[in-house]
Amino acid sequence: MATGLVDDDRFLLHRAPYEHPEHPGRLSAIHGRLEEAGLVARCERVPAREATREELERIHTAAHVRAIASTANRDFSQLDPDTYASRGSYEAALLAVGGLVDLSLAVAEGRLSNGLALLRPPGHHAEADHAMGFCLFNNVAVAARAVQARGAAAGAARNPGATRVLVVDWDVHHGNGTQHSFWEDPTVLYFSTHQFPFYPGTGAIDEIGGGAGLGLTVNVPLPAGCGDAEYLAAFDRVLLPVARTFAPDLVLVSAGYDAADGDLLGSMRITPDGYARLTHRLLGLAGGRVVLALEGGYNLDAIARSAEASLRALFGEMADESLRPHPAPAVSRIFDRVHDVQRPYWAGI
Ligand code: ZN
Repeated sequence: MATGLVDDDRFLLHRAPYEHPEHPGRLSAIHGRLEEAGLVARCERVPAREATREELERIHTAAHVRAIASTANRDFSQLDPDTYASRGSYEAALLAVGGLVDLSLAVAEGRLSNGLALLRPPGHHAEADHAMGFCLFNNVAVAARAVQARGAAAGAARNPGATRVLVVDWDVHHGNGTQHSFWEDPTVLYFSTHQFPFYPGTGAIDEIGGGAGLGLTVNVPLPAGCGDAEYLAAFDRVLLPVARTFAPDLVLVSAGYDAADGDLLGSMRITPDGYARLTHRLLGLAGGRVVLALEGGYNLDAIARSAEASLRALFGEMADESLRPHPAPAVSRIFDRVHDVQRPYWAGI
């Protein structure tokens, strides 16, 4: 079975009339690198298509969808100090969501083995009722709900309507919008590891979900300067034990590459090989049904090499797995605190 790829020139329609770190050149850089390496031809293309109102409104308010739609009538809209929309942004945003929904359904239903979606605008800061942090619609959150609505994947057979989705967010920023979307939801486990304190300010250890979703939000905030060892250890010590217990049917990844070494906004140091290893670890979950959706990442060379490494991991090409990560002691103490907070909800961590 093939690896799916969402990659569409219309995502370039979203562009600011001034210099902005989230610009169309990001996708061109990644696409160019994958093309040059001969990797695009090895993927099965999943066409982007416009998301429907019904799909969007499982996560967003009707008023928010209308507000973003109205930006198509103006040359330029400044939605918050960081977040813009150009005349083509609404179309790009609809296509990004729809493309990711279709890729996620194809993977969940076993028509593709896994996938990568090279999307703009990004999504994980977008809240139910407002755009934020370069994000207009929450691509990953809408895709998770679409898969659940379809009753796709093995979970539907076990328990109709209860497809279990793990969202892993390795973007350097915390995904506030995604966290809030599933705060009280026991069927979606949201795991984020991110630089902290940092934009947007959420993502503390004690933010663990509420109501029926208690313990289904897992935050691992990390100090600036962390790299492969710390991120891999966060997966090994926190994410994987929890995720194996949760037993997801599908893994959606908010795959920002702004925790890469050399990023313009983040201060982390993940290498391309590190992203390959993180991806490889996720393939051990949900029968390997893993979909990576681009979020941030602002150093063009770093994001191109990191996306290539992630895609090669999806193909099953893997580097030496024998290395054991040894994070700094201060970071190990963060994992201990996460364990203390989450232990009531996850036996055995
Ligand atoms: Zn980010």
